[in-house]
Amino acid sequence: MVQEQIIGRGIKDLRVIKAMQEVPRHLFIPEALLGQAYGDFALPIGEGQTITQPYLVAYMSEALGLKGEERVLEIGTGSGYQVAVLAHLAWRVYSVERIRSLLERARKVLDQIQCWNVITRLFDGTYGWKEEAPFEAILVTGGSPSIPSPLKEQLKVGGTMVIPVGSRSSQKLLKIRRTATGFLEEELRECNFVALVGEYGWEKQERIS
Ligand code: SAH
Repeated sequence: MVQEQIIGRGIKDLRVIKAMQEVPRHLFIPEALLGQAYGDFALPIGEGQTITQPYLVAYMSEALGLKGEERVLEIGTGSGYQVAVLAHLAWRVYSVERIRSLLERARKVLDQIQCWNVITRLFDGTYGWKEEAPFEAILVTGGSPSIPSPLKEQLKVGGTMVIPVGSRSSQKLLKIRRTATGFLEEELRECNFVALVGEYGWEKQERIS
C-alpha cells in the first residue's frame, strides 16, 4: 500500500510515509471487509460513514506540515485511522466524533495500539474544542458547506487547517493558513467526503430533492 499508493503517487514527507507504514489499517476496518483493508479506496465503517482512502489520509496529513510538537484538532474520528496517523506526527491530537458507536469502537483500537496522545470526545465538532484551543493544526474529515467559524477562531496564528468545502456530493479540499492579519486560502484538490453534520455544517436530515 505505502509503496504504490503513497510514495508512488508523490507523498514526500518521510514522517508521513513512516506513520503510514506503522499504523495497522486493518484494525480499523469492519471484519467483513478485512480483505480490502489495504485497497486504494474508502470503505464503509457503519452508520453511513467511511474510513478515508489511504492516499487521501497521507495527502491531508502532509498538507498540515506537522513537525512533531503540535497540538492538532481532528473533526470526525470515524474509524480512528486518520487520528492514529496524526498521533505519529504531532505531540497531541484531540479528535471529536458525533456518533457514539463509532467513537467507542475507534477508542478501543486506539487504546489497543497505544495511541496515548489521542484525546477523544463525543460532541458536535463544528463547535471545535474551545477548552483546548488554540490549535496549531485542524483537520476536518467531513465535507462542509462552509468553514465553521469556531474552527477559524480556534486556529492559532501561523497554524494550518485542512477542510473539504462544497456540496454534499463533492468538495474542494482547502488549506487555510492563519496569519497575523487574517486567513490565506489555497485550493488543494477535488474530493468527496461524507457530510459534516452539525450546527455549523449540514443539517442532519437529507433534504428531499
Ligand atoms: N477520519 C475518519 C473519517 C470518518 S468519515 C477516519 O479516518 O475513519 C467522517 C466522520 O465525521 C464520520 O464518522 C462522521 O460521523 C463524523 N462527523 C460528521 N459530522 C461531525 C461533527 N459535526 N462532529 C464530529 N464528527 C462528525
